[in-house]
Amino acid sequence: MTTYTLKQASELLQSKKISAVELATEYLNAIDTKNPAINGYITLDKNLTMAEARAADARIAAGNAGALTGVPVAYKDIFCQTGWKSACSSKMLDNFVSPYTATVVQNLLDAGMVTLGRTNMDEFAMGSTNETSFYGATKNPWNLENVPGGSSGGSAAVVAARLAPTALGSDTGGSIRQPASHCGITGIKPTYGTVSRFGMVAYASSFDQAGPMAQTAEDCAILLNAMAGFDERDSTSIEREKEDYTRDLNQTLKGLKIGLPKEYFGENNSTDVQTALQQVIDLLKAQGAEMVEVTLPQTELSIPAYYVLTSAEASTNLSRYDGVRYGHRAAQFGDLEEMYSNTRAEGFGSEVKRRIMIGTYVLSHGYYDAYYLKAQKLRRLVANDFQTALKDCDLILGPAAPTAAPKLNSLNEDPVQAYLSDIYTVSVNLAGLPAVSLPAGFSSDGLPIGVQLIGNYFSEAKILGAAHQIQQNSDWHTKAPA
Ligand code: GLN
Repeated sequence: MTTYTLKQASELLQSKKISAVELATEYLNAIDTKNPAINGYITLDKNLTMAEARAADARIAAGNAGALTGVPVAYKDIFCQTGWKSACSSKMLDNFVSPYTATVVQNLLDAGMVTLGRTNMDEFAMGSTNETSFYGATKNPWNLENVPGGSSGGSAAVVAARLAPTALGSDTGGSIRQPASHCGITGIKPTYGTVSRFGMVAYASSFDQAGPMAQTAEDCAILLNAMAGFDERDSTSIEREKEDYTRDLNQTLKGLKIGLPKEYFGENNSTDVQTALQQVIDLLKAQGAEMVEVTLPQTELSIPAYYVLTSAEASTNLSRYDGVRYGHRAAQFGDLEEMYSNTRAEGFGSEVKRRIMIGTYVLSHGYYDAYYLKAQKLRRLVANDFQTALKDCDLILGPAAPTAAPKLNSLNEDPVQAYLSDIYTVSVNLAGLPAVSLPAGFSSDGLPIGVQLIGNYFSEAKILGAAHQIQQNSDWHTKAPA
């Protein structure tokens, strides 16, 4: 059974109770059996995986292994990795085998972690359901009729289905936290600039941030230690002293001030979500934390601001896919102009095209001031709201999403409805703050529900510490789908 947490896998490897080759084989066998129904992994390469596992065993035998050496990990298809198809779940990059490796992936390879495969996602990370993938939707392992959330839905699904102890995701507007919530796992989006974006396919560069997804907050802290750090190849990477994100895991909740924004507790939420939130509030109080009411007045406007700004950035980032240098190129065209347009018409799916059109529109002459500039101003107000609220509390608690995972095909007719469900996650990216999503119970029909803890800049250790304490006093995170 491949039910190990990252920490358990690490302990088994270090005590030589299992080898990296045995562990990787167990996971690959489980993936063979269970992945076809879920479609969480889209690219597997047993030869590459086993070569990494053998190298890890050699390191362990030679006595120069670290805690992560031999621990298996899955990567969202957004991370470039030498020798692996890195397609960002798009037809545009379906033929792209990366000639280089993203810094975060390299950091984990250097630690000796073993790549199990690449996970499904919404095309170019645009979406909340994983249904925009060129490789077909991922199914929620808790109920195959439901979506796993998105865009890191493949990573969330494989961790929930116990087909990887841990996986990397990326979060531009909630894509780690919302699928973690829908799949019953834990995931953290770090402070913008904490984890290098080098080699991570760009969606909206001033929002994108990679982060760990795992069963527990403790595992997320261990993995973040290996992922984070300054990278001179990413101009927005922050140069700061290395931190230990596990340092607050044993910090008690006593006296911690938890802010409850009134905008996060309205009718927007399903009763199941309200119940889950109340259970966490009760737990926190029982552990000695104190609840304070706060307000985040711009919450509703964060959605239009987010979709204007991220679409603007996406429209410029995706201009590089022109059929000239790499990726898909149309087979039929008359002249250069037609080569570009046929390539892009064929290579991008409809959600990506919609974002490119919105982005191009809001950046064009005459509309820039009305939309783009206004959204930038809102971005500042959203960030200010958080600073005001965080004067009165240490952490902010809220839902990760207004409902449990929706049914497959229920949102793709109405993109605006899907955008509105991002209400609790996008403001965190507008502000660049860190936030964790962790399991907090189940809906009446048995789907997991997560809650979110948001902290001030660079408070990852504090957030993960509080999440760990919640997990020490509850068992929602230990539940796995049948
Ligand atoms: N659902 C959001 C969007 O479609 C979030 C995506 C993300 O975080 N990558 O933009």
